[in-house]
Amino acid sequence: MSLYRAPLPDMRFVLFDLLDAQALFARLGFEDATGDVVDAVLEEGARFAESVLAPLNRVGDEQGCKFDRATGAVTTPEGFSQAYAQYVEGGWAGLVSPTQFGGQGLPHAVGVPLKEMIDAANLAWGNFPLLSHGATEALLHHGEPWQQEAFLKPIVAGQWTGTMCLTEPHCGTDLGLLKTRATPGEDGSYAITGTKIFITAGEHDMAGNIVHLVLARLPDAPAGSKGISLFIVPKFKVGRDGAIGERNAVHAGALEHKMGIHGSATCVMNFDGAQGWLIGEPHKGLAAMFTMMNTARLAVGLQGLGLADRAYQNALRYARERLQMRALSGAKFPDRPADPIIVHPDVRRMLLTQKALVEGGRALGYHAASLVDIVEHGHDADERRDADALLGFVTPIVKACLTEWGVECTYHALQCFGGHGYIAEHGMEQLARDARITTLYEGTTGIQALDLLGRKVMQQQGAGLQVMLRLIEGFCDDNAGNDAVAEFIAPLRARAAEWQALTMAVGRRAVADADEIGAAAWDYLFYSGYVALAYWWARSVAAAEASSHSDAFKAAKRETARFYFARLLPRTLAHKAAIESGAASLLALDADRFDA
Ligand SMILES: Cc1cc2nc3c(=O)[nH]c(=O)nc-3n(C[C@H](O)[C@H](O)[C@H](O)COP(=O)(O)OP(=O)(O)OC[C@H]3O[C@@H](n4cnc5c(N)ncnc54)[C@H](O)[C@@H]3O)c2cc1C
Repeated sequence: MSLYRAPLPDMRFVLFDLLDAQALFARLGFEDATGDVVDAVLEEGARFAESVLAPLNRVGDEQGCKFDRATGAVTTPEGFSQAYAQYVEGGWAGLVSPTQFGGQGLPHAVGVPLKEMIDAANLAWGNFPLLSHGATEALLHHGEPWQQEAFLKPIVAGQWTGTMCLTEPHCGTDLGLLKTRATPGEDGSYAITGTKIFITAGEHDMAGNIVHLVLARLPDAPAGSKGISLFIVPKFKVGRDGAIGERNAVHAGALEHKMGIHGSATCVMNFDGAQGWLIGEPHKGLAAMFTMMNTARLAVGLQGLGLADRAYQNALRYARERLQMRALSGAKFPDRPADPIIVHPDVRRMLLTQKALVEGGRALGYHAASLVDIVEHGHDADERRDADALLGFVTPIVKACLTEWGVECTYHALQCFGGHGYIAEHGMEQLARDARITTLYEGTTGIQALDLLGRKVMQQQGAGLQVMLRLIEGFCDDNAGNDAVAEFIAPLRARAAEWQALTMAVGRRAVADADEIGAAAWDYLFYSGYVALAYWWARSVAAAEASSHSDAFKAAKRETARFYFARLLPRTLAHKAAIESGAASLLALDADRFDA
């Protein structure tokens, strides 16, 4: 089985040294988020993840969830519901939710390390509480007061869980095609009818009620995505007074059989005239759902990060123990029958790639969470506006890059184990299988790329990119005389200028041909991800040097940053060349000639 130790030293480094979270929390008015409280969250979260969730990871993979066709009930793997009870008991469910509804009101930047630890320990289990956070956000921003009163307290307490019901058999990415209907009733509620598929935690045995947030069409809805409304549909009916009623007409029809996350219940959900309540305005459901989807996208990015880190920890341990061959330059451990594989440059390439993507990705992801805190609690309007633009810009990067890097890292980690990674014993193949879903749900990587280049850059005149470029320029100016990072400043400045020029060039081509956006999007996304990570690596070196961390810690940051700039940042060259080659080579071949 793969082991997991929460990476508390690096989490603390990112929060306290790199992001200066103590000062940020004080400035935003989070009086309770003192250093001691944050430390306690990290320590206790680590204990819960390591000792309760991690041991259930293999159990969940082997047992999976069970579906009872006769009753429609879903039974989760052994120990899952008991772990959930401990999660609720520990007050984890409401860690970052408003105190008004029973939450602890801590910053999102404190919630992300907990999220990372949970996902690394047991991704399948982590999916059960995952969408409750999204449901909380949607209700907070779009729910009527009675809906907030009736639903939020039990969700925040963890007594009820949430789902997000978008996908239908014929529509995943293109929600404008959805067919689920909502018919108005006399009491102000709606009868919801239709079938949703792939619904995470749609049915399970962990909580007293399940609150489905469902996209459906009203009778007078215009066609396409402008005719979609959002409804709240509980498994057990809930009255306006919060009283729980009878079973609603929503049932699981089947469980999907999947490549990974076997312990996560992925359900077909049938709505047969189920009672639902409209959230927000009619036909504006997609906008309301986006509130939920953005939170969920950051959360899925952290899933990729968590799995990558767990895979890396195990690969590193194995590479120190496994003895094979001698180093090319002569024995490094002559007293042993062979050298440990960590001496071989190719194994070091795989290990350092994982370390650079994990630690850099952690900085990127946690910074995005701190932007959520600024957007929600900042006192200064300009600061809030900039944080909002930057958050919109980095959200698709966090979602897509952290999950694609999660897949890459779990594959590198498996490769470090050789054939022993491919067999089940060490748990590495489970991590690789589990990681694969993260690039698909909550919008595929291709869709994140379109969101970044099409919406966040082209439609919003690059507002978020400009904030990002100002951050990079500011860092370079502030550190012009800092010997610790001198070697990184010139390449970082060059990439920032190139990023700007590349964006303008794509924009010009897109005016003439909209397909140029689709053709450039994927490479633009990764180009952006690698430059953003270069910024975070340079900042990490500066922050480490200025901190009281050990010399070993500082050297590890410096050497990993050097590896990143030398061997991973050059990936931008290929992405730039692909972007500049334009759409022609992608579109020339007729669709009916692909198999000619
Ligand atoms: C395990 C699991 C759990 C899930 N959980 C949930 C859940 O809780 N709630 C929920 O509602 N859904 C859920 N989903 C559904 C998931 O979000 C969708 O599968 C995903 O959004 C993709 O939709 P699709 O599968 O229909 O693929 P399609 O939309 O058919 O896309 C197929 C391919 O075409 C590409 N593509 C499509 N349109 C474009 C375009 N315009 N430009 C470029 N490329 C494009 C996509 O990137 C993809 O590669 C889950 C799925 C799985 C497998």
